[in-house]
Formats: sequence, structure tokens, C-alpha cells
Amino acid sequence: MLEVRGVSVRYGQGAPALTALHLRAGPGRVTAVVGGNGAGKSTLMKAVSGVLSFDGGRVEDGAILLDGEPVHRLGPTALVRRGIAHVPEGRRVFADLTVEENLRAGAAVARKALRTRLDESYAMFDVLARRRRQRAVLLSGGEQQMLAIARGLMSGPRLLLLDEPSLGLAPLVVERIAALIARIRDGGTAVLVVEQNAAMAFSVADEGYVLEQGKVVLSGTAAELRADEGVREMYLGGSGTADELRRFADRAPLARWSA
Ligand code: ATP
Repeated sequence: MLEVRGVSVRYGQGAPALTALHLRAGPGRVTAVVGGNGAGKSTLMKAVSGVLSFDGGRVEDGAILLDGEPVHRLGPTALVRRGIAHVPEGRRVFADLTVEENLRAGAAVARKALRTRLDESYAMFDVLARRRRQRAVLLSGGEQQMLAIARGLMSGPRLLLLDEPSLGLAPLVVERIAALIARIRDGGTAVLVVEQNAAMAFSVADEGYVLEQGKVVLSGTAAELRADEGVREMYLGGSGTADELRRFADRAPLARWSA
């Protein structure tokens, strides 16, 4: 459904942030993109959701296709209407608004009735249902991440973009976020997740890509990537704490070796 075809991105006159990048993400699948700081993960998300130009970036080459149609010239509102939702890095919930007001804001371009969306959201996120009248600033980091994801889901997306959902969260909370991603996938949504935490990403992903300096250096099924020697050394050993890796050991058995 999503095809990133040979996309190159540049900010201003700087070096390319993405170079001839190819990637696919499909319905009912989790596609993970793993890479270190500055690899180009957020740039990829911004290019797909149409907000790249707000940061002074542009797609210089290639095309982004949704169901075969080029969409890389469309703005963010048009892309939300086409079914793309972007949950940016760092959560960015509206701190002074209540949980419910945050959710309503996510439904501005919704394809279903607001009440139905809210009911679905509260059924999925019971912690948000309990705290619907509280200001978002009072939520914990993990709850804010859930609110950010729930807000993204309010538009009823077919493709959900998650930028580093595990960032700064305790291992147990990361585990809950991973389970949530699997649940969203099982509902038929295409999920594209970018992460520095390879253990988490490859535990929940169906397919994955490894990004270095704006280029895909490796791709395959999540199982293939977990088994890859280079990935184990570079990413499964280096991402997250040993404790975090241990927690993911059941679902990503190879992570255990480097923990
Ligand atoms: P991180 O995990 O640190 O967020 P990332 O993989 O998301 O890293 P990007 O933020 O996409 O990486 O950055 C890719 C490259 O593009 C980096 O070299 C970065 O310095 C550059 N870059 C990102 N945003 C801008 C911007 N607004 N203006 C200029 N250069 C930028």
C-alpha cells in the first residue's frame, strides 16, 4: 500500500538526509526501520506525512506512492484524508489540554463520527478512559505516548507512522507499547515504526529495514534481521539497556545473546 520508491531528501544546501531510499509497508503488517542518531528516520516519516517542508526539507528525487498513486506533493491535511497519521518523536501532546481534548484534536479530519472514535479509543486505552478529564501534562511519559498514539488513531488511519515510540520509556512501558502496536496491526492497519531500539522494533515487526546515513543497508523479514550477525552486533547489543533486552528476550530470542 505504501511504496517509497528511490526517494532522496535534502534540507537546504546540506548533505542528503535520505538517498535513493526504497521501502514498502502493507496493511496488517508492522514494518520497522531501525537506525542510530541522524540516520534519517524522522526525515522518512516527515516525507511520508507531508510535513517535511515545514522543516525546510524537500523530496529531490523519487516518489512516494499510496495505493500506486504519487502523494509526495500533497500537504499533511490531504494525506490525513488519504488515511495517513503521523505520531511524531517526543509525543508532542497538548500539555494544557485534557486527554479528551487531545483526542478531539486528532479527529479534526476524521472519517467516522467523533463519538464512535472516542468510544473505540477508550475501549482500547483504558488508562485514557479513566483520565479523560485530566490535563495531559499530568500523565506519565508512557501515558503521554499512549495518548499520542490514540490521538493518531482518531483520524481512522490506514497507515500509522510511529516515530520512536519507545524513546525515554521504562522497559515495562516499552513492552506495553509493543503489545499495543501488535494490536493495531492485528486490526488491519499498516504500521510503519522507526526506532533506535532494535530489540523492541524487531520483536513486533513483520519486516524491517536498517538505515545508515540516509541509506537502506539491509532489509528482510524481522526474523532474518534478528538473525543477522551485523544487526546483532550493531543494534541488538547497542540499543536499550541489558535489562530492556532481557525483557524482550522471549519475543526476540536473539536479543538475549547480547544482553
Ligand atoms: P534521531 O534518532 O536523532 O532523531 P533520525 O534518524 O531521526 O535521528 P533525522 O532527524 O531524520 O535522523 O536526520 C537525518 C539528517 O538530516 C541528519 O544529518 C540531520 O542533521 C539532518 N536534518 C534533520 N532535520 C533537519 C533540519 N530541519 N534542517 C537541516 N538538517 C536536518
